[in-house]
Amino acid sequence: MKICIDPGHGGDDPGLQAFGIVEKNVNLDIAIKLKHFLEHEGIDVAMTREMDETVEPAERISRINKSGADYTISIHCNGGPVSSKGTETVYGHKSLEGKELAECILKEISNLGIARRRAYNKLNAKREDYSFVIRESEMPTVIVETAFLTNPSDNHLLSQNPFRKKIANAIATGIFNTVQIKRQKGGHWAAPFFEAIREEGLVQDQYPLDKGVTWGELSMVLSRLIERVKNQTNI
Ligand SMILES: [Zn+2]
Repeated sequence: MKICIDPGHGGDDPGLQAFGIVEKNVNLDIAIKLKHFLEHEGIDVAMTREMDETVEPAERISRINKSGADYTISIHCNGGPVSSKGTETVYGHKSLEGKELAECILKEISNLGIARRRAYNKLNAKREDYSFVIRESEMPTVIVETAFLTNPSDNHLLSQNPFRKKIANAIATGIFNTVQIKRQKGGHWAAPFFEAIREEGLVQDQYPLDKGVTWGELSMVLSRLIERVKNQTNI
């Protein structure tokens, strides 16, 4: 398993700047922390940049595609109206694997207390993926818009080293879970049961089938089930 990490912007391109924080630096710091978490678990990592370096789009794509990675994670901060906050992940519109990875990462980051916005894809006028990193990379690629630099509370979180570490750890967990889910789709005994409850809407995300369930998750599934039974029997 190999992951290519792409810290957005760099060098002459600072990305967003808000409340004294510069996006390129936040992206690189989270990327380096993510690299350590992945390598610690024995996953090979390639980086499109490891310092404050200008990387033109063509060079960025060349580095991504030369890496031979199974997935690419492009790390960014979001920007918008001051009230917009939370995490978004973006995947290629034709990539089921990208969608799964995007959903897993979104779930893990939103567990940290950052608002969960959406995992989505965005097309240009030609109905191609809007982002060149997603469009031109040869493997499933997910852009992680970690949080909004332009929102005071998200900005405060992003400015803190321990929180950036938590985000990196959450992205790593999202990657591990995706890899496990991919493996179990190859024939985990419980995969059809899980698919059945997912089709019924009792769970919305993908979960690694051998991982423990928390009381929170169990309560959520049971309350959805109770709701379903009540509706069907008109109690
Ligand atoms: Zn960016």
